[in-house]
Amino acid sequence: MRAIRRFTVRTVLPAELAALGELVHNLRWSWHPETTDLFAEVDPRLWEQVGHDPVALLGAVTPARLNELAADRRFLRRLADAADDLREYIVSPRWYQTLPDAPQAVAYFSPEYGIAAALPQYSGGLGILAGDHLKAASDLGVPVLAVGLLYRHGYFTQTLSPEGWQLEHYPSLDAGGLPLALLKDDDGPVKIRISLPEQRVLHAQVWVAQVGRVPLLLLDSDVADNDTAARDVTDRLYGGGTDHRLMQELLLGIGGVRAIRAYCRVTGHPEPEVFHTNEGHAGFLGLERIRELTETRLSFDEALEAVRAGTVFTTHTPVPAGIDRFPTEMIERQFGGDNAWPTVPVERILALGAESDPARFNMAVMGMRLAQRVNGVSRLHGEVSRDMFKDLWPGFDVDEVPIGSITNGVHAPTWVGRELMELAGRELPSLIERARGWDGIQKIPDAELWDIRGLMRRRLVEGARKRLREAWRERGASDAELGWIEEVLDPEALTIGFARRVPSYKRLTLMLRDPERLAGLLLDPDKPVQIVIAGKAHPADEGGKKLIQQIVKFADQQHVRHRIVFLPDYDMALAQLMTQGCDVWLNNPLRPLEASGTSGMKSALNGGLNLSIRDGWWDEWYDGTNGWAIPTADGVSDPDRRDALEAAALYDLIEHEVADRFYDRAGDGLPRRWMEMVKHTLTSLGPKVLAGRMLRDYVTDLYTPAARSARALSADGYASAKAFAAWRLRVAQAWPGVRVEHVETSGVGEAPEVGSSIELRATVALGDLEPDDVLVEAAYGKVGAHDELVRPTYAKLAADVVDDDGRAHYTGVVPLDRTGAFGYTVRVVPYHPLAASPAELGLVTVPEEPAGMTNGTLR
Ligand SMILES: *Cc1c(COP(=O)(O)O)cnc(C)c1O
Repeated sequence: MRAIRRFTVRTVLPAELAALGELVHNLRWSWHPETTDLFAEVDPRLWEQVGHDPVALLGAVTPARLNELAADRRFLRRLADAADDLREYIVSPRWYQTLPDAPQAVAYFSPEYGIAAALPQYSGGLGILAGDHLKAASDLGVPVLAVGLLYRHGYFTQTLSPEGWQLEHYPSLDAGGLPLALLKDDDGPVKIRISLPEQRVLHAQVWVAQVGRVPLLLLDSDVADNDTAARDVTDRLYGGGTDHRLMQELLLGIGGVRAIRAYCRVTGHPEPEVFHTNEGHAGFLGLERIRELTETRLSFDEALEAVRAGTVFTTHTPVPAGIDRFPTEMIERQFGGDNAWPTVPVERILALGAESDPARFNMAVMGMRLAQRVNGVSRLHGEVSRDMFKDLWPGFDVDEVPIGSITNGVHAPTWVGRELMELAGRELPSLIERARGWDGIQKIPDAELWDIRGLMRRRLVEGARKRLREAWRERGASDAELGWIEEVLDPEALTIGFARRVPSYKRLTLMLRDPERLAGLLLDPDKPVQIVIAGKAHPADEGGKKLIQQIVKFADQQHVRHRIVFLPDYDMALAQLMTQGCDVWLNNPLRPLEASGTSGMKSALNGGLNLSIRDGWWDEWYDGTNGWAIPTADGVSDPDRRDALEAAALYDLIEHEVADRFYDRAGDGLPRRWMEMVKHTLTSLGPKVLAGRMLRDYVTDLYTPAARSARALSADGYASAKAFAAWRLRVAQAWPGVRVEHVETSGVGEAPEVGSSIELRATVALGDLEPDDVLVEAAYGKVGAHDELVRPTYAKLAADVVDDDGRAHYTGVVPLDRTGAFGYTVRVVPYHPLAASPAELGLVTVPEEPAGMTNGTLR
């Protein structure tokens, strides 16, 4: 019999233990082992049974035990200390509080959050990154206010069928059993409403999770006011069809802004000055903010400028098929007809998401048009994104496409093994305090570090056996058949980890390319290699499930099953176990489809060595000796051949480099050459891969400039937003009249020499514009085979004379600063101090005929 409704009845804590409730309801415990130690002490056996979930612990502990603790002086003292520590953590000034004009608050939107295994609201890297972003923000005192959805079933949990096929389960979560509190005002729970076509309304309530000092608002449509379809909007993460996805994104973007307004009203929290959207799914937030502004005092164009100035958009996928799109008519139905917002014309909305296919509304493109600042998540991904979206800025070189990059990072206290954190805290306190002093790692004795590595490897082996036993029981085996599991994996053997979601570009099965060769590596009598694998395929991805099945079938074979295991249900807890315990972290995506990747960073911080294709973050920070790069066959177009080449390179590396080094032991049994590489990994990568570094970059490069722009535009009743919008319109209309009419040079002799320079004079027809409206530049440098300038340098030309007919004369000097093929041209772009890049308006004019000495050769 099934219950028609479920809820959790909460424990009433004795007054003496009230602080325990406070600790449980701030997710800081998830990266603060001293607090979880205290939870464990409440009831050690129960703590294991509930899988280290403190809310479940409080729900299950007996009143008798609570009364006992309430009288336990020692426990009460520790409890008081822990609560004091949390309160002090929340209010004490941090790095952010030293900055002069940083934003008073930043809203952060993401469709998923990976905060702790006990709050399963994530599917993979995007969510884990969002979780680490909030935790690092909390540690640094960055006033982030985060928004997401509360999925009743979260993401699925994974088991295997006897045949090794992925099975999905959707356990019901109920908010009462999670560390959440309902947002209420004087009238009771705050209600968010979004009107839908045909007089329907989508209602939601708002849960607040506290992540250290960062509040996370989670919208939940499972409320009585809703019809069944509307109730199911937040049923699952990435489930359902297009309509379902649109409802989720409306709730996240539009509902998210409304939730923020309600939260600030109820709690007095400062209003965000900057809105950051983690991927395009939350893009509707920009429309809602335009609506707010147009309903008070601004035109659509003015509101658009004000909103863009304070918006940051981070793109996460280099895979064109991964871009979020809707059929245009769905957007028309939602934002047009009876359901239209009076001040926000649906045509303008459609134009924001317009792409090459008129039947599609593109959320990424809208994200870029609604944000003045856009970034990818690694240097290579920035490059790939500039190329992917360059058509939005026609006429500009790909290098000038205004998409930058901030490379992802990971939150050390969440991911680094406890013993290693403690060692660092003891030996290198400056690391924790100021993220500096990584060279100090070199002074730690090899033996000490190796012992901790061994301890984490052993913990992984034990955890893997336990999980494998559960998986086999699930697959129908009886304990009597499972004796062999006690011998699975060797706590002393070289352990390689591979765990991630299973989209095809991540190539889970590349290692199976030559099964004989793989078995040879696993079964090597002197230098055995063992592999631990995990990963979930998207429920609709049959191909991904087949890949999992292939791995499972291989690992099921009796002769290799003690050396290679697939562990079901990859989640944060398993990721911690694996990235801490594995000696080597393998990643072999199809370059350049991995935007960043973060699991390898977790491994590096734990003293694991990366063995990876040079993609995402690894392309940027691999330095030749801090791990291994698997050579890529980038140019090879036949995918099968490419896989074969890259797999062969992988086997060679494992056999000749990795295993050799691991098993090369000195007289004292220590692998000195291995430890040298581990230490170099920690010193070279440690400071870079931290989420704290990432967050500082966001604050300095994006949040603060965005807040400055937003303030400039909103000052004096949005005077500058109005002026900027009017200027933009005027420039766009007048632009066809702008022409480079004539360019001449002097100083180019018969044989120009490097170190000399040429003088440039350009005549530009400005039409209805003034010289102040434009920037006239020389672009110069190396030219390629077709006279194209390769990564040119730009130099501003000075306005000399302006004729009565609107012609302006410009002059400037071009230094001949390089030998070889050299060229130059002149271009005109709009100029306004409030624009963030010359490409912002997407307008540029160059001479109709290429201007200069494009085939001149310098000596
Ligand atoms: C870190 C992590 C990811 C992301 O790993 P990638 O290297 O980016 O693929 C995905 N899932 C979980 C559970 C993680 O902990």
